[in-house]
Amino acid sequence: MAGSPATNGGTGTGTGTGDWTPGSWRSRPIRQCPTYPGSAAEAEAGLRRATAELGQLPPLVHAREVERLKASLRDVARGEAFLLQGGDCAELFDYCRADAIESKVKLLLQMSLVLVWGADRRVVRIARLAGQYAKPRSSPSEVVTLPGTGEKREVPSFRGDILNGFRLEDRELDPQRLVKAYNHSAATLNYVRAALAAGLADLHRPLDWSLGHVNDPALKAKYTEAVRFLRDMLRFMHTIGADRSPKLDTVDLYTSHEGLLLEYEQSLTRLMENPTPYHSALDTTTTTTATNDNNDKNHDNENGSRNGGGVAGAGISGGKRTEYYDTSAHFLWIGDRTRQLDGAHVEFFRGVANPIGVKVGPTTTTSDLLGLLRALNPSREPGKVTLITRYGASRVGELLPAHVAAVEASEFGSRSGGEGGGGGIVVWQCDPMHGNTRTTAEGIKTRRFGDILAELRETLAVHARLGTYLGGVHLELTGDAVTECTGGSGGPDDADLSTNYTSFCDPRLNEKQALELAFLIADHYRQ
Ligand code: PEP
Ligand code: MN
Repeated sequence: MAGSPATNGGTGTGTGTGDWTPGSWRSRPIRQCPTYPGSAAEAEAGLRRATAELGQLPPLVHAREVERLKASLRDVARGEAFLLQGGDCAELFDYCRADAIESKVKLLLQMSLVLVWGADRRVVRIARLAGQYAKPRSSPSEVVTLPGTGEKREVPSFRGDILNGFRLEDRELDPQRLVKAYNHSAATLNYVRAALAAGLADLHRPLDWSLGHVNDPALKAKYTEAVRFLRDMLRFMHTIGADRSPKLDTVDLYTSHEGLLLEYEQSLTRLMENPTPYHSALDTTTTTTATNDNNDKNHDNENGSRNGGGVAGAGISGGKRTEYYDTSAHFLWIGDRTRQLDGAHVEFFRGVANPIGVKVGPTTTTSDLLGLLRALNPSREPGKVTLITRYGASRVGELLPAHVAAVEASEFGSRSGGEGGGGGIVVWQCDPMHGNTRTTAEGIKTRRFGDILAELRETLAVHARLGTYLGGVHLELTGDAVTECTGGSGGPDDADLSTNYTSFCDPRLNEKQALELAFLIADHYRQ
């Protein structure tokens, strides 16, 4: 198969719990792997060109940022902070525009303001942004009706801008899109950093977070109450001189995407110094010789030692701790279709230092769930793994309790303490979107606001009953006034969906629905 792992020069050992290298995933069974067009040799050469180019480009994120996020997720695992993650289902290269980026960032900031006010704890923000370009598909091809002639034709499915384009003439996979994805991620991230540095999130001017789009009087009243509360608090801080910290002008916003295309993720994986002080427990691990595959030459790891995770190249030398960071984003998650314990995706992500998410759904067995935690977080670091649960409103009550109970009864339970003692190890996050997708009579893919809220409420209730902490939510949303999900106050119904349906993948909450959901979560905590 053109572009398959076996043809890409990987030499990783990848057996059992053995050594990890950035290329060890290549010897594992892989799902959703792209096949590039042309002969095997042509496909291989095209892919090599693209990954060699990526290997020379600078990291998109820094180890220091990744470690700062990990520290924040540790607080989430321990019940001291809340995680808000959201963005498009499929980000398009076309969304790399100032207004689209700003509206999404503003919406996440608005929601987090509401959550800080409601939940009375710090909010960690992660955007599905600056890299969410690859989509898993149930079939590599689909039958479409050609406009004009009405002729039916089988074409490759749209798999996200990193692989092919949505327009029928762009459906052929093109390896140069890997480089384009990097460039669009870089431009998006650059604008996010610039906008935040310029004061987009300046809490001294909370009313600049335009309330214009909030038409619903009840919603507007609640939001205004939150803003008034924050303004009073800031005035008080100003009076006592506590607002002179630069922290009030900017906020942290981290990036994330599904780690689906391992060629891309490997090319951006770099051995970097971990800037945080290391724990003595990690000092005592064995040292062996690093093994390198072809791509590792890009990664500057010829002289590395290793740490206890069996990770070649990573380790401690000269008093410095080096680790592999996937620098394509701060946070990566493994999707519901690629989380096989013996598969390539779990193999790759077990070796990187980033915090990792895993989708957990109706087909996840409890033994797989524990296997995933053991593979991805053998040292039981609090906050290292986020379990993103997505069962659907009708099934969450039946399925989530057994998953929570299994984790609680294991060495990852919240009473087992983890490294450094005290509190939870996993982050439980609710994705109330992916189990609640339905198709209307007209064939439009949509979700009901009521189902999304119902899954979220039931998830909160299950965690409350079992004494665990729901640490966050994972949402598909956009800052634009789309009509893709039905319901919410004044929201569209089935008949209105085609008014402004612009998603090329899953339906997203619009700004009003997203903000309303944030208020409803806040309300839950304030009761
Ligand atoms: C997604 O988050 O867009 C997605 C495809 O989710 P899942 O892997 O849970 O189906
Ligand atoms: Mn989706």
